[in-house]
Amino acid sequence: MSEINLASVLSNIRIVLVGTSHAGNIGSAARAMKTMGLSDLRLVEPCEYFADQGDACALASGATDIVASAHNVADLSSAIEECTLVIGSSARSRTMPWPMLDPQEAARLIIETAKKYPVAMVFGRERTGLTNEELAHCQYHACINANPDYSSLNLAMAVQVFAYQIRCTALEYESTVDGIVTAMEKTVSEDKPATAGELNFLFQRLESVLDKADFLFQQDPQYMLRKLKRVVYKAQLEHKEINIIQGIFTSIEKKIKSLSKDLT
Ligand code: SAH
Repeated sequence: MSEINLASVLSNIRIVLVGTSHAGNIGSAARAMKTMGLSDLRLVEPCEYFADQGDACALASGATDIVASAHNVADLSSAIEECTLVIGSSARSRTMPWPMLDPQEAARLIIETAKKYPVAMVFGRERTGLTNEELAHCQYHACINANPDYSSLNLAMAVQVFAYQIRCTALEYESTVDGIVTAMEKTVSEDKPATAGELNFLFQRLESVLDKADFLFQQDPQYMLRKLKRVVYKAQLEHKEINIIQGIFTSIEKKIKSLSKDLT
């Protein structure tokens, strides 16, 4: 990877902060990003940091440009829509096991994907992290292996650890032969991977079809839907495959509609 390629790969990586409550953490995260060459910051339902510009700017130091150009987005799905890889960072292991990565593994996957497509690394709230629903938007979860008795890092410090690892990995790739075919590129076909937006739409249709087919009559339908999301992520669907499944859903929906007409 040349220096130019390095910059373009890093520009494909966005950092998404969800529900940040302290303006200072937004500034510190921006500084963590800029020191490692990252610049795309997206804020989902942040605190009123504009009211607290002082804190955000003081802690951003020389990275106030990253704070100023951060995109405010209404929800997580909009923040990650065009991304083909979404990794959620979480200190806690959750009730439902999910494919877990350490920062090195996460960085490798991020760099390999960001050569071609936008990717997102998602961070949660200072007090409560990411909700189960937000974590279910992520194909992988990543955890910094910390002291088990006290494993929760400050938000901006967690951003720093991942950003540093991403930079080290990018530099490692830069020093290897240009054009090396990575393991991932070898397995990737001509078609492009599905984006988070396409997958989100697929999940909405899946939920609606399962509901119409009376499959979601159970105690915790959301739990079942999260399990199904995990199955779908494992398949690493491509754009055309999503279209085929959407076509199947359309046929099933038509059939259910005509069956229910026959019954009336
Ligand atoms: N009490 C919260 C921790 C919030 S810390 C919880 O249990 O989830 C704020 C954010 O920093 C987290 O949502 C996560 O994105 C990141 N973070 C903190 N410590 C981390 C760790 N050890 N590994 C991965 N991410 C971590």
